[in-house]
Amino acid sequence: MSATTRITILGAGFAGLELSTQLSEALGDAVQVTLIDKADAFIFGFSKLDLMFGHAELPAVRLPYAHFAKPGVRLLRETVTAIDPVTRRVTTDAGVHEADFLVVAMGADYDIAATPGLADEHEFYSVPGAARLREVLSTFRRGHALVGVCGAPYKCPPAPSECALMLHDYLSRAGVRDDCEISLVLPLSSPVPPSPETSRALLAAFEERGIRFRPNCRIARVDAARRVATLDDGSEIAYDLFLGVPRHRAPAVVEAAGLTENGWVTVDPRTLQTRFPGVYAIGDIANTGTPKAGVFAEGAAGAVASALIAQIRGAGEGQLYGGRGTCYIEFGAGRIGRVEVDFFSGPKPTGTYHEPSVELRQDKLHFGASRRARWFGL
Ligand SMILES: Cc1cc2nc3c(=O)[nH]c(=O)nc-3n(C[C@H](O)[C@H](O)[C@H](O)COP(=O)(O)OP(=O)(O)OC[C@H]3O[C@@H](n4cnc5c(N)ncnc54)[C@H](O)[C@@H]3O)c2cc1C
Repeated sequence: MSATTRITILGAGFAGLELSTQLSEALGDAVQVTLIDKADAFIFGFSKLDLMFGHAELPAVRLPYAHFAKPGVRLLRETVTAIDPVTRRVTTDAGVHEADFLVVAMGADYDIAATPGLADEHEFYSVPGAARLREVLSTFRRGHALVGVCGAPYKCPPAPSECALMLHDYLSRAGVRDDCEISLVLPLSSPVPPSPETSRALLAAFEERGIRFRPNCRIARVDAARRVATLDDGSEIAYDLFLGVPRHRAPAVVEAAGLTENGWVTVDPRTLQTRFPGVYAIGDIANTGTPKAGVFAEGAAGAVASALIAQIRGAGEGQLYGGRGTCYIEFGAGRIGRVEVDFFSGPKPTGTYHEPSVELRQDKLHFGASRRARWFGL
């Protein structure tokens, strides 16, 4: 490869930020990396829960792309409008970009319209949705709060469970927990399927706090006027406050490019290569069999970085994606649990559980702070 190898990365989220950082660290100005994102800042997924429950303010958790400066990488604020995976040509609202290697890292979009009635209700998976719920929660003093997931796969499988536990704390602090009920509807068999131990601990935490858990169901529709949610088995749940997780989908521009099958980009799960030469997909948008979570997006970015670096240096093949990740789980009362999940080493996924403690909060803080410092120098 020549010194002018062009690598275009679509999306500066968890995956795109990590990939461009590793490329910059290894290759610096020897390659031209173009990182494209339509937004002007990155926000960690877990910050949305902190925003909603008043643990953080937006300016403190917004990481403006203006702070992202890496040798060999230019970050452009543009919206991708078309992708040609055959020619690796990308069209944006500002022009056209040609690439030797193209990496699609555009995450998952929310398909609000896929759940009738959801548009009239609240969701906490976007920053504006979490901010609106913060306002609503400040006046919620009595009634039934329903945390409901509208479909799988969805980002960060433990997040709805965390939301229910944090809501318990929030209402307890407000002195109104006894006047409120909390239910959680999840389209999974247990809160964290790869780790029965973690799931058991979460179920025990729900039980202790009087949180009703309904597994194996999704919210099929909501009727904001009647305040009734209908599940996919036809049963109805009346609520006073709905906290929804919308259905997820690949961004329409990626579907239009012919990169998706069954909703997500088909890749070799270990190399992250699509069927188009020189085109990779990483993070939430790729169908690897691992969860849609930042830690997995980061792992996939590492594998693609090593493959690209190896090809550019003409040395070896790089490392395969290991499908491993560590998730921190809010158990409420300031305690954090940890689970290390491994999807590819054995015949089925496994998880190693670490009991929640106040000390583990430091680990979670370090997880966020270390990425913040590494990517943004903040
Ligand atoms: C409430 C909540 C809690 C979470 N907690 C955790 C957690 O504790 N740990 C964890 O590991 N993960 C967590 N996650 C999941 C995590 O946020 C995502 O899995 C992760 O961000 C995925 O990274 P990504 O790079 O694939 O996508 P993203 O980080 O979503 O990045 C995609 C980027 O692509 C850009 N983009 C999309 N379309 C276009 C376009 N047309 N043109 C230009 N740019 C475009 C977007 O602006 C975005 O910046 C949580 C998520 C939520 C919602």
